[in-house]
Amino acid sequence: MRIDVLTLFPEMFPAVLGTSILKRAAQPVGDRAALVSYHLTNIRDYTTDKHGKVDKAPFGGGPGMVMQCQPLWDAVQAVEAQDPAPATRILMTPQGRPLRQSIVEELALLPRLLVISGHYEGIDERVIDRLKPMELSVGDYVLSGGELPTMVLIDAVVRLIPGVLGDDESTHHESFSPGAGGLLDYPHYTKPREWMGMEVPPVLLNGDHAKIEEWRKEQSRERTRDRRPDLLGP
Ligand code: SAH
Repeated sequence: MRIDVLTLFPEMFPAVLGTSILKRAAQPVGDRAALVSYHLTNIRDYTTDKHGKVDKAPFGGGPGMVMQCQPLWDAVQAVEAQDPAPATRILMTPQGRPLRQSIVEELALLPRLLVISGHYEGIDERVIDRLKPMELSVGDYVLSGGELPTMVLIDAVVRLIPGVLGDDESTHHESFSPGAGGLLDYPHYTKPREWMGMEVPPVLLNGDHAKIEEWRKEQSRERTRDRRPDLLGP
């Protein structure tokens, strides 16, 4: 998968994309090619303004600055032309569809994502109308920019690209995932067996895998009932 990021602050990304699973996914292993490549583009590089500006005060008045159409439009055209793979355009915005694991699962199968991070008060609506991106939100709160939401999206998607996680860390039992029936994950324990007087649940120690499986399913249902009854449906 190719992932293009269009942002005014590309310097925010390398630490996140260069660490742990996101880093590993972008590295070739033996003679297998990398499973993903990241391409950061600074929208500012495409402005035709002679002072390098990309934003202006809003028509109609009000606080803040609005990102202009021209730099973003030209950046998208230029970046899309860098590779024949068709890009799915995504705009991170608090007004988008709330991001869900089911959306992430679909995105993980695509050949190319082009993710736009807004900043300041937002983006001139006309360029959004023209680009017709899929609009996604990371939750009902407002951040100062789309960069963190973009990184959240990339992290959630890349770990689901087939081959990125090994079998032993596979995703099938995680919260919201089909393997967990869309429920929350069960609780996890590791060594030592006793910590601050608290014992690991004995069922996990007896090696009876059917029993363990049953216990985990029950835990998963119980926590979902407690914490997120909305996930259980009607
Ligand atoms: N004025 C806008 C908010 C702008 S926030 C409004 O009230 O709807 C500035 C930028 O941060 C947005 O363009 C978007 O790219 C990003 N952003 C802020 N909160 C976000 C969220 N919850 N999800 C996704 N992107 C968000």
